[in-house]
Amino acid sequence: MTVDEPLSRGMFDDVWHKYVPLKVSPFAWRLLRNRLPTKDNLVSRRVLQHDDDKCIRGCNAEETACHLFLSCAIFGHVWLFVLQWLGISFVATDRVHGHFHQFSHIAGLPWFTHSFMTLLWLASVWKIWKERNNWVFNQKALDLHQITDTIKHVSYQWLKASMNTFAFNYTDWLRQPLSCMSVMLWLVLFLLFSRCLLCSGISNLTL
Ligand SMILES: [Zn+2]
Repeated sequence: MTVDEPLSRGMFDDVWHKYVPLKVSPFAWRLLRNRLPTKDNLVSRRVLQHDDDKCIRGCNAEETACHLFLSCAIFGHVWLFVLQWLGISFVATDRVHGHFHQFSHIAGLPWFTHSFMTLLWLASVWKIWKERNNWVFNQKALDLHQITDTIKHVSYQWLKASMNTFAFNYTDWLRQPLSCMSVMLWLVLFLLFSRCLLCSGISNLTL
C-alpha cells in the first residue's frame, strides 16, 4: 500500500479522532494523501530545485513522507522509542498507510485499545513533523529521547483535555500507558452499561 492509495472509510474515521486537536486531523489527512510539503513534493511542484530533495537530517536520502516519518535514521527511530515505552514490538512496514493501520491495530492488544493507539500514532507523526519544521526554520533539534518525551506529553494532554474520566496522573501515563488505556476503556464500557441499565429501569417505571 502506498501513500497515494485512497483511504478506506475506517481509516478516514480514525484520522478524524475526537480526542485530538482539530488542526491535527487535517495534517494527518494530508500525510496519508501524500500532500504535505515534503521535499520530494516541493521538487515535483518546482518549488525546490531537483537536487534539493535530501532529508534535512543528513541521511542523504530523498525526503519523502515514507522516509521522513518511517525510515529516516533520526525521525524514523522515534517509533522504536515509542514502542519501547509501550512495551510492545512489531515488524513495521515502510509505507505510511500500512504503518498507520499496523500501529493502531497491533496484534495481541485488546480491540478497545484501538482508539488510544490511533491517538498515539497521530501524536507521533504530529510531533515528528513539528520537529522537522523546527529544524528547517529555526535550526533547533531535539534528540530522539526528547522527541519521544514530547509525544508522551502531548498524548497525555490530549487525553486529559478530552476525557473527563481520564483520572491518571502523568507519572501513571509515563510508567504504564497500556494499563491506563485498558482501565479507561473498561471504565467507559461500565459507565455505558450502567447508563443503559438506568434508562431501561426508568422506561420500565413509566410503563
Ligand atoms: Zn532522514
